[in-house]
Amino acid sequence: MHYVSTRGSAPVLGFGEAMMTGLARDGGLYVPDTVPELSHGDIAAMAGLPYEEVAFRVMRPYLGGFFGDDEFRGLIDAAYKGFHHTARAPLVQLAPNHFLLELFHGPTLAFKDFAMQLIGQMMQAALAKSGERITIVGATSGDTGSAAMEAFRGLANVDVFILFPHGRVSDVQRRQMTTPVEANCHALAMDGDFDACQARVKDMFNDFAFRDGVRLAGVNSINWARVLAQVVYYFYAATALGAPHRSVSFTVPTGNFGDIFAGYIARRMGLPIEKLVIATNQNDILDRALRAGDYRTDGVKPSISPSMDIQVSSNFERALFDAYGRDGNAVSQLMAELKTGGFHISQGALETLRATFASGRCSEEETLATITHQLRTTGELLCPHSAVGVKVAEDHLGAVPMITLATAHPAKFPDAVERATGIRPGLPPHMADLFDRPERMTRVPNDLAALQALVRERIAP
Ligand SMILES: *Cc1c(COP(=O)(O)O)cnc(C)c1O
Repeated sequence: MHYVSTRGSAPVLGFGEAMMTGLARDGGLYVPDTVPELSHGDIAAMAGLPYEEVAFRVMRPYLGGFFGDDEFRGLIDAAYKGFHHTARAPLVQLAPNHFLLELFHGPTLAFKDFAMQLIGQMMQAALAKSGERITIVGATSGDTGSAAMEAFRGLANVDVFILFPHGRVSDVQRRQMTTPVEANCHALAMDGDFDACQARVKDMFNDFAFRDGVRLAGVNSINWARVLAQVVYYFYAATALGAPHRSVSFTVPTGNFGDIFAGYIARRMGLPIEKLVIATNQNDILDRALRAGDYRTDGVKPSISPSMDIQVSSNFERALFDAYGRDGNAVSQLMAELKTGGFHISQGALETLRATFASGRCSEEETLATITHQLRTTGELLCPHSAVGVKVAEDHLGAVPMITLATAHPAKFPDAVERATGIRPGLPPHMADLFDRPERMTRVPNDLAALQALVRERIAP
Protein backbone atom coordinates (compact mmCIF):
# COMPACT_ATOMS: atom_id res chain seq x y z
CA MET A 1 0.00 0.00 0.00
CA HIS A 2 1.44 3.34 -1.10
CA TYR A 3 0.32 6.89 -0.49
CA VAL A 4 0.40 9.63 -3.13
CA SER A 5 -0.14 13.37 -2.90
CA THR A 6 -3.25 15.08 -4.30
CA ARG A 7 -0.91 17.56 -6.02
CA GLY A 8 1.08 14.87 -7.74
CA SER A 9 4.67 15.90 -7.07
CA ALA A 10 5.58 14.80 -3.51
CA PRO A 11 7.42 11.56 -2.72
CA VAL A 12 5.30 8.38 -2.62
CA LEU A 13 5.25 7.09 0.99
CA GLY A 14 4.31 4.03 3.02
CA PHE A 15 1.69 4.15 5.80
CA GLY A 16 4.07 4.95 8.66
CA GLU A 17 5.78 7.78 6.80
CA ALA A 18 2.47 9.23 5.61
CA MET A 19 1.22 9.21 9.21
CA MET A 20 4.32 10.94 10.60
CA THR A 21 4.54 13.40 7.70
CA GLY A 22 1.06 14.92 7.69
CA LEU A 23 1.01 17.46 4.86
CA ALA A 24 2.78 16.38 1.65
CA ARG A 25 5.82 18.43 0.65
CA ASP A 26 4.07 19.77 -2.47
CA GLY A 27 1.33 21.22 -0.24
CA GLY A 28 -1.07 18.36 -1.05
CA LEU A 29 -2.71 15.68 1.08
CA TYR A 30 -1.79 12.01 1.07
CA VAL A 31 -4.29 9.44 -0.22
CA PRO A 32 -3.86 5.70 -0.80
CA ASP A 33 -2.88 4.89 -4.39
CA THR A 34 -5.69 2.32 -4.53
CA VAL A 35 -8.62 1.84 -2.18
CA PRO A 36 -8.89 -1.80 -1.01
CA GLU A 37 -12.32 -3.31 -1.58
CA LEU A 38 -13.97 -5.60 0.94
CA SER A 39 -16.20 -8.39 -0.33
CA HIS A 40 -19.92 -8.71 0.41
CA GLY A 41 -19.03 -11.60 2.73
CA ASP A 42 -16.31 -9.60 4.56
CA ILE A 43 -18.76 -6.80 5.24
CA ALA A 44 -21.63 -9.10 6.23
CA ALA A 45 -19.35 -10.78 8.77
CA MET A 46 -18.85 -7.48 10.63
CA ALA A 47 -22.45 -7.28 11.87
CA GLY A 48 -22.59 -7.52 15.64
CA LEU A 49 -18.81 -7.62 16.21
CA PRO A 50 -17.16 -5.45 18.89
CA TYR A 51 -16.09 -2.01 17.65
CA GLU A 52 -12.42 -2.93 18.10
CA GLU A 53 -12.74 -5.98 15.84
CA VAL A 54 -14.46 -3.98 13.09
CA ALA A 55 -11.67 -1.40 13.42
CA PHE A 56 -9.02 -4.07 12.91
CA ARG A 57 -10.70 -5.51 9.81
CA VAL A 58 -11.38 -2.14 8.16
CA MET A 59 -7.97 -0.55 8.76
CA ARG A 60 -5.59 -3.47 8.41
CA PRO A 61 -5.42 -3.41 4.57
CA TYR A 62 -4.09 0.18 4.71
CA LEU A 63 -1.08 -0.52 6.93
CA GLY A 64 1.14 -2.28 4.42
CA GLY A 65 2.51 -4.35 7.31
CA PHE A 66 3.72 -1.26 9.23
CA PHE A 67 2.32 -2.82 12.43
CA GLY A 68 2.10 -6.56 13.05
CA ASP A 69 -1.42 -7.94 13.57
CA ASP A 70 -1.08 -8.53 17.30
CA GLU A 71 0.60 -5.19 17.81
CA PHE A 72 -2.16 -3.39 15.88
CA ARG A 73 -4.90 -5.13 17.87
CA GLY A 74 -3.16 -4.00 21.07
CA LEU A 75 -3.05 -0.38 19.87
CA ILE A 76 -6.75 -0.44 18.96
CA ASP A 77 -7.72 -1.89 22.34
CA ALA A 78 -5.66 0.74 24.16
CA ALA A 79 -7.20 3.53 22.06
CA TYR A 80 -10.82 2.73 22.91
CA LYS A 81 -10.59 1.41 26.45
CA GLY A 82 -11.03 4.96 27.83
CA PHE A 83 -14.41 5.40 26.14
CA HIS A 84 -17.42 5.67 28.43
CA HIS A 85 -19.77 3.41 26.47
CA THR A 86 -19.19 -0.29 25.81
CA ALA A 87 -20.66 0.03 22.30
CA ARG A 88 -18.14 2.88 21.64
CA ALA A 89 -20.48 4.30 18.93
CA PRO A 90 -24.07 3.48 19.95
CA LEU A 91 -26.98 3.96 17.51
CA VAL A 92 -30.26 5.41 18.76
CA GLN A 93 -33.45 5.84 16.76
CA LEU A 94 -35.01 9.27 16.26
CA ALA A 95 -37.87 8.49 13.86
CA PRO A 96 -38.95 5.77 11.42
CA ASN A 97 -35.86 5.21 9.25
CA HIS A 98 -33.80 7.93 10.97
CA PHE A 99 -30.99 6.96 13.36
CA LEU A 100 -28.39 8.88 15.34
CA LEU A 101 -24.84 7.57 15.69
CA GLU A 102 -23.52 8.89 19.01
CA LEU A 103 -19.81 9.58 18.55
CA PHE A 104 -19.31 11.58 21.75
CA HIS A 105 -18.54 8.96 24.38
CA GLY A 106 -14.76 9.39 24.20
CA PRO A 107 -12.64 11.19 26.80
CA THR A 108 -13.12 14.72 25.36
CA LEU A 109 -16.76 14.28 24.33
CA ALA A 110 -16.45 14.72 20.55
CA PHE A 111 -15.97 12.33 17.61
CA LYS A 112 -12.39 13.57 17.26
CA ASP A 113 -11.43 11.10 20.03
CA PHE A 114 -12.04 8.13 17.71
CA ALA A 115 -9.13 9.10 15.48
CA MET A 116 -6.96 10.98 17.94
CA GLN A 117 -6.84 8.25 20.58
CA LEU A 118 -5.76 5.78 17.92
CA ILE A 119 -3.12 7.96 16.27
CA GLY A 120 -1.80 8.77 19.74
CA GLN A 121 -1.21 5.04 20.21
CA MET A 122 0.15 4.52 16.69
CA MET A 123 2.57 7.47 16.77
CA GLN A 124 3.82 6.47 20.22
CA ALA A 125 4.52 2.94 18.96
CA ALA A 126 6.29 4.29 15.87
CA LEU A 127 8.43 6.70 17.93
CA ALA A 128 9.35 3.99 20.41
CA LYS A 129 10.82 2.02 17.50
CA SER A 130 12.68 4.91 15.87
CA GLY A 131 13.79 6.69 19.05
CA GLU A 132 12.85 10.05 17.50
CA ARG A 133 11.13 13.01 19.08
CA ILE A 134 8.52 15.09 17.25
CA THR A 135 6.73 18.41 17.50
CA ILE A 136 3.03 18.25 16.80
CA VAL A 137 1.41 21.47 15.64
CA GLY A 138 -2.31 21.49 15.01
CA ALA A 139 -5.09 23.99 14.30
CA THR A 140 -8.46 23.54 15.92
CA SER A 141 -11.96 24.94 15.73
CA GLY A 142 -12.26 23.56 19.27
CA ASP A 143 -12.46 19.78 19.39
CA THR A 144 -9.33 18.56 17.60
CA GLY A 145 -7.16 20.47 20.06
CA SER A 146 -8.62 18.98 23.20
CA ALA A 147 -8.64 15.49 21.68
CA ALA A 148 -4.97 15.85 20.65
CA MET A 149 -3.84 17.02 24.07
CA GLU A 150 -5.74 14.19 25.73
CA ALA A 151 -4.04 11.71 23.40
CA PHE A 152 -0.46 13.05 23.70
CA ARG A 153 -0.21 14.68 27.14
CA GLY A 154 2.75 13.57 29.21
CA LEU A 155 4.52 11.63 26.42
CA ALA A 156 8.29 11.99 26.72
CA ASN A 157 9.15 12.36 23.04
CA VAL A 158 6.32 14.64 21.86
CA ASP A 159 5.42 18.32 22.26
CA VAL A 160 1.90 19.39 21.25
CA PHE A 161 1.12 22.94 20.15
CA ILE A 162 -2.51 23.75 19.42
CA LEU A 163 -3.57 26.96 17.67
CA PHE A 164 -7.17 27.92 18.35
CA PRO A 165 -9.09 31.05 17.31
CA HIS A 166 -9.10 33.36 20.35
CA GLY A 167 -12.60 33.98 21.70
CA ARG A 168 -14.27 31.69 19.17
CA VAL A 169 -14.36 28.34 20.98
CA SER A 170 -16.75 27.36 23.77
CA ASP A 171 -15.61 27.67 27.41
CA VAL A 172 -15.60 23.88 27.78
CA GLN A 173 -13.54 23.46 24.61
CA ARG A 174 -11.05 26.11 25.73
CA ARG A 175 -10.69 24.69 29.23
CA GLN A 176 -10.09 21.20 27.86
CA MET A 177 -7.06 22.67 26.06
CA THR A 178 -5.80 25.04 28.76
CA THR A 179 -6.10 22.84 31.86
CA PRO A 180 -3.84 19.83 31.12
CA VAL A 181 -0.96 20.21 33.59
CA GLU A 182 1.62 18.34 31.52
CA ALA A 183 4.50 20.54 30.35
CA ASN A 184 4.41 19.14 26.78
CA CYS A 185 0.94 20.67 26.13
CA HIS A 186 0.93 24.19 24.69
CA ALA A 187 -2.40 25.96 24.09
CA LEU A 188 -2.00 28.97 21.80
CA ALA A 189 -4.89 31.44 21.45
CA MET A 190 -4.40 33.10 18.06
CA ASP A 191 -5.94 36.33 16.79
CA GLY A 192 -8.04 35.24 13.80
CA ASP A 193 -10.52 32.55 12.76
CA PHE A 194 -10.00 28.81 12.25
CA ASP A 195 -9.06 29.26 8.60
CA ALA A 196 -6.21 31.56 9.67
CA CYS A 197 -5.02 29.00 12.27
CA GLN A 198 -5.09 26.23 9.67
CA ALA A 199 -3.25 28.44 7.15
CA ARG A 200 -0.41 29.12 9.64
CA VAL A 201 -0.07 25.41 10.38
CA LYS A 202 0.20 24.71 6.65
CA ASP A 203 2.77 27.53 6.34
CA MET A 204 4.90 25.82 9.00
CA PHE A 205 4.76 22.56 7.03
CA ASN A 206 5.67 24.37 3.82
CA ASP A 207 8.78 25.92 5.43
CA PHE A 208 11.01 22.87 5.03
CA ALA A 209 13.92 24.23 7.11
CA PHE A 210 11.58 24.77 10.06
CA ARG A 211 9.65 21.57 9.42
CA ASP A 212 12.76 19.39 9.38
CA GLY A 213 14.47 21.34 12.18
CA VAL A 214 11.72 20.74 14.75
CA ARG A 215 10.58 17.40 13.22
CA LEU A 216 7.07 18.65 12.63
CA ALA A 217 4.16 16.19 12.66
CA GLY A 218 0.49 16.92 12.05
CA VAL A 219 -2.70 15.67 13.67
CA ASN A 220 -5.25 17.67 11.69
CA SER A 221 -7.37 15.70 9.27
CA ILE A 222 -4.75 16.49 6.64
CA ASN A 223 -3.21 13.40 8.27
CA TRP A 224 -4.45 10.32 6.42
CA ALA A 225 -4.36 8.16 9.56
CA ARG A 226 -7.04 10.35 11.12
CA VAL A 227 -9.38 9.92 8.19
CA LEU A 228 -8.74 6.18 8.19
CA ALA A 229 -9.73 5.75 11.85
CA GLN A 230 -13.06 7.43 11.06
CA VAL A 231 -13.90 5.01 8.24
CA VAL A 232 -14.53 2.34 10.87
CA TYR A 233 -17.75 3.67 12.37
CA TYR A 234 -19.43 3.88 8.97
CA PHE A 235 -19.02 0.10 8.66
CA TYR A 236 -19.98 -0.46 12.29
CA ALA A 237 -23.23 1.52 12.01
CA ALA A 238 -24.25 0.40 8.52
CA THR A 239 -23.82 -3.31 9.27
CA ALA A 240 -25.87 -2.88 12.45
CA LEU A 241 -28.74 -1.68 10.22
CA GLY A 242 -28.53 -4.45 7.64
CA ALA A 243 -25.67 -3.59 5.28
CA PRO A 244 -24.45 -5.04 2.99
CA HIS A 245 -27.87 -6.66 2.38
CA ARG A 246 -29.45 -3.22 2.21
CA SER A 247 -28.13 0.29 1.61
CA VAL A 248 -28.04 3.17 4.07
CA SER A 249 -27.38 6.91 3.82
CA PHE A 250 -25.41 9.14 6.19
CA THR A 251 -25.72 12.81 7.07
CA VAL A 252 -22.56 14.38 8.46
CA PRO A 253 -22.20 17.78 10.20
CA THR A 254 -19.30 19.09 8.17
CA GLY A 255 -16.52 21.64 8.58
CA ASN A 256 -13.14 20.52 7.29
CA PHE A 257 -14.68 17.64 5.27
CA GLY A 258 -12.61 15.01 7.12
CA ASP A 259 -15.43 13.06 8.72
CA ILE A 260 -17.58 12.86 5.59
CA PHE A 261 -14.54 12.02 3.48
CA ALA A 262 -14.09 8.95 5.69
CA GLY A 263 -17.64 7.98 4.66
CA TYR A 264 -16.63 8.39 1.03
CA ILE A 265 -13.73 5.98 1.57
CA ALA A 266 -16.09 3.47 3.22
CA ARG A 267 -18.30 3.69 0.14
CA ARG A 268 -15.36 3.10 -2.17
CA MET A 269 -14.37 0.07 -0.08
CA GLY A 270 -17.71 -1.47 -0.99
CA LEU A 271 -20.06 -0.38 1.81
CA PRO A 272 -23.46 0.23 0.15
CA ILE A 273 -23.97 3.90 1.00
CA GLU A 274 -26.63 5.53 -1.17
CA LYS A 275 -25.94 9.16 -0.31
CA LEU A 276 -23.52 11.07 1.89
CA VAL A 277 -25.25 14.28 2.90
CA ILE A 278 -23.05 17.26 3.78
CA ALA A 279 -24.71 19.31 6.53
CA THR A 280 -23.36 22.84 7.02
CA ASN A 281 -24.25 25.70 9.34
CA GLN A 282 -24.42 29.28 8.02
CA ASN A 283 -20.82 28.80 6.84
CA ASP A 284 -22.19 27.03 3.82
CA ILE A 285 -19.42 27.10 1.22
CA LEU A 286 -19.69 23.33 0.60
CA ASP A 287 -23.46 23.47 0.13
CA ARG A 288 -23.10 26.36 -2.30
CA ALA A 289 -20.27 24.60 -4.14
CA LEU A 290 -22.28 21.44 -4.64
CA ARG A 291 -25.37 23.32 -5.80
CA ALA A 292 -23.77 25.92 -8.07
CA GLY A 293 -20.36 24.45 -8.88
CA ASP A 294 -18.52 27.46 -7.51
CA TYR A 295 -16.23 27.06 -4.49
CA ARG A 296 -15.79 30.59 -3.19
CA THR A 297 -14.87 31.79 0.32
CA ASP A 298 -16.68 34.76 1.83
CA GLY A 299 -15.41 35.06 5.41
CA VAL A 300 -16.26 32.98 8.47
CA LYS A 301 -19.44 33.95 10.34
CA PRO A 302 -19.23 32.83 13.99
CA SER A 303 -22.12 30.48 14.85
CA ILE A 304 -23.51 28.42 17.74
CA SER A 305 -21.88 25.35 16.14
CA PRO A 306 -18.32 26.75 16.26
CA SER A 307 -16.51 23.52 15.33
CA MET A 308 -17.98 23.95 11.84
CA ASP A 309 -17.07 27.63 11.41
CA ILE A 310 -14.77 26.91 8.50
CA GLN A 311 -14.63 28.13 4.91
CA VAL A 312 -11.55 26.39 3.56
CA SER A 313 -12.30 22.69 3.97
CA SER A 314 -8.93 20.97 3.62
CA ASN A 315 -10.21 17.49 2.89
CA PHE A 316 -12.41 18.63 0.03
CA GLU A 317 -9.12 18.57 -1.90
CA ARG A 318 -9.09 14.78 -1.53
CA ALA A 319 -12.57 14.48 -3.05
CA LEU A 320 -11.60 16.87 -5.87
CA PHE A 321 -8.53 14.76 -6.62
CA ASP A 322 -10.76 11.76 -7.40
CA ALA A 323 -13.42 13.85 -9.15
CA TYR A 324 -10.72 15.19 -11.49
CA GLY A 325 -9.54 11.70 -12.37
CA ARG A 326 -6.60 11.81 -9.92
CA ASP A 327 -4.95 14.64 -11.86
CA GLY A 328 -2.54 16.31 -9.43
CA ASN A 329 -1.83 19.20 -11.81
CA ALA A 330 -5.52 20.06 -12.05
CA VAL A 331 -5.82 20.06 -8.26
CA SER A 332 -2.72 22.25 -7.88
CA GLN A 333 -4.28 24.77 -10.24
CA LEU A 334 -7.58 24.84 -8.32
CA MET A 335 -5.74 25.35 -5.03
CA ALA A 336 -3.74 28.22 -6.54
CA GLU A 337 -7.02 29.84 -7.62
CA LEU A 338 -8.43 29.33 -4.12
CA LYS A 339 -5.69 31.62 -2.78
CA THR A 340 -7.33 34.43 -4.73
CA GLY A 341 -10.89 33.72 -3.60
CA GLY A 342 -12.24 30.57 -5.20
CA PHE A 343 -12.61 28.35 -8.23
CA HIS A 344 -15.18 26.89 -10.57
CA ILE A 345 -15.67 23.09 -10.45
CA SER A 346 -15.76 21.54 -13.94
CA GLN A 347 -19.07 20.04 -15.07
CA GLY A 348 -17.65 16.52 -15.17
CA ALA A 349 -16.17 16.76 -11.68
CA LEU A 350 -19.38 18.27 -10.34
CA GLU A 351 -21.45 15.39 -11.70
CA THR A 352 -19.04 12.90 -10.15
CA LEU A 353 -19.33 14.62 -6.77
CA ARG A 354 -23.13 14.80 -6.99
CA ALA A 355 -23.33 11.05 -7.63
CA THR A 356 -22.08 10.51 -4.06
CA PHE A 357 -22.78 13.69 -2.12
CA ALA A 358 -25.90 15.72 -1.42
CA SER A 359 -25.94 18.79 0.80
CA GLY A 360 -27.99 21.15 2.91
CA ARG A 361 -27.59 24.17 5.16
CA CYS A 362 -29.09 24.85 8.58
CA SER A 363 -29.56 28.38 9.94
CA GLU A 364 -28.97 29.40 13.57
CA GLU A 365 -32.74 29.53 14.24
CA GLU A 366 -33.28 26.10 12.69
CA THR A 367 -30.44 24.70 14.81
CA LEU A 368 -32.06 25.91 18.03
CA ALA A 369 -35.53 24.77 16.89
CA THR A 370 -34.18 21.30 16.11
CA ILE A 371 -32.61 20.95 19.57
CA THR A 372 -35.94 22.00 21.15
CA HIS A 373 -38.00 19.69 18.96
CA GLN A 374 -35.81 16.61 19.39
CA LEU A 375 -35.83 16.91 23.16
CA ARG A 376 -39.61 17.20 23.14
CA THR A 377 -40.31 14.36 20.68
CA THR A 378 -37.52 11.85 21.36
CA GLY A 379 -35.88 12.86 24.66
CA GLU A 380 -32.53 13.18 22.86
CA LEU A 381 -30.51 16.22 23.87
CA LEU A 382 -28.46 17.26 20.82
CA CYS A 383 -25.37 19.46 20.63
CA PRO A 384 -25.73 22.25 18.04
CA HIS A 385 -23.52 20.46 15.48
CA SER A 386 -25.54 17.27 15.71
CA ALA A 387 -28.70 19.39 15.42
CA VAL A 388 -27.44 20.83 12.13
CA GLY A 389 -27.03 17.24 10.95
CA VAL A 390 -30.48 16.13 12.11
CA LYS A 391 -32.21 19.09 10.43
CA VAL A 392 -30.48 18.54 7.09
CA ALA A 393 -31.06 14.77 7.32
CA GLU A 394 -34.78 15.35 7.79
CA ASP A 395 -34.80 17.12 4.42
CA HIS A 396 -33.15 14.07 2.83
CA LEU A 397 -35.07 11.13 4.31
CA GLY A 398 -35.93 8.47 1.74
CA ALA A 399 -36.42 4.74 1.33
CA VAL A 400 -33.16 3.64 2.97
CA PRO A 401 -32.23 4.16 6.63
CA MET A 402 -30.63 7.55 7.31
CA ILE A 403 -27.87 7.67 9.92
CA THR A 404 -26.97 11.11 11.25
CA LEU A 405 -23.63 11.49 12.99
CA ALA A 406 -23.87 13.08 16.45
CA THR A 407 -20.45 14.70 16.61
CA ALA A 408 -20.29 16.13 20.14
CA HIS A 409 -21.85 15.82 23.58
CA PRO A 410 -24.38 18.57 24.43
CA ALA A 411 -22.39 19.46 27.58
CA LYS A 412 -19.60 20.84 25.38
CA PHE A 413 -21.96 23.58 24.18
CA PRO A 414 -24.18 24.28 27.21
CA ASP A 415 -25.08 27.87 26.26
CA ALA A 416 -26.76 26.96 22.97
CA VAL A 417 -28.45 23.92 24.48
CA GLU A 418 -29.79 25.97 27.39
CA ARG A 419 -31.09 28.65 25.01
CA ALA A 420 -33.00 25.99 23.07
CA THR A 421 -34.32 23.90 25.95
CA GLY A 422 -33.90 25.69 29.28
CA ILE A 423 -31.76 22.74 30.36
CA ARG A 424 -28.07 23.28 31.09
CA PRO A 425 -26.41 19.91 30.40
CA GLY A 426 -23.88 18.96 33.06
CA LEU A 427 -20.41 17.62 32.37
CA PRO A 428 -19.96 13.89 32.92
CA PRO A 429 -18.25 12.85 36.19
CA HIS A 430 -14.76 12.41 34.71
CA MET A 431 -14.56 16.14 33.98
CA ALA A 432 -16.92 17.56 36.57
CA ASP A 433 -14.13 19.77 38.03
CA LEU A 434 -13.15 21.29 34.65
CA PHE A 435 -14.14 24.79 35.74
CA ASP A 436 -12.10 24.57 38.97
CA ARG A 437 -8.81 23.70 37.26
CA PRO A 438 -6.29 26.51 36.57
CA GLU A 439 -5.91 27.59 32.94
CA ARG A 440 -2.60 27.99 31.10
CA MET A 441 -2.44 29.49 27.61
CA THR A 442 -0.43 31.91 25.48
CA ARG A 443 -1.94 34.67 23.32
CA VAL A 444 -0.22 34.70 19.93
CA PRO A 445 -0.47 36.95 16.86
CA ASN A 446 -1.45 35.70 13.39
CA ASP A 447 2.19 35.80 12.35
CA LEU A 448 4.24 32.89 11.05
CA ALA A 449 7.68 34.09 12.21
CA ALA A 450 6.46 34.79 15.74
CA LEU A 451 4.80 31.37 15.96
CA GLN A 452 7.89 29.59 14.71
CA ALA A 453 10.07 31.45 17.23
CA LEU A 454 7.74 30.43 20.04
CA VAL A 455 7.75 26.76 19.02
CA ARG A 456 11.56 26.72 18.77
CA GLU A 457 11.96 28.35 22.16
CA ARG A 458 9.51 26.03 23.92
CA ILE A 459 11.06 22.82 22.62
CA ALA A 460 14.68 23.90 23.30
CA PRO A 461 16.19 21.41 25.76
C1 LIG B 1 -14.69 18.76 13.91
C2 LIG B 1 -16.16 18.78 14.15
C3 LIG B 1 -17.08 18.78 13.09
C4 LIG B 1 -16.64 18.85 11.65
O1 LIG B 1 -15.93 17.72 11.24
P1 LIG B 1 -15.01 17.77 9.92
O2 LIG B 1 -14.29 16.49 9.87
O3 LIG B 1 -14.08 18.94 10.16
O4 LIG B 1 -15.90 18.02 8.77
C5 LIG B 1 -18.42 18.70 13.39
N1 LIG B 1 -18.86 18.68 14.66
C6 LIG B 1 -18.01 18.69 15.71
C7 LIG B 1 -18.55 18.68 17.09
C8 LIG B 1 -16.63 18.74 15.49
O5 LIG B 1 -15.78 18.75 16.54
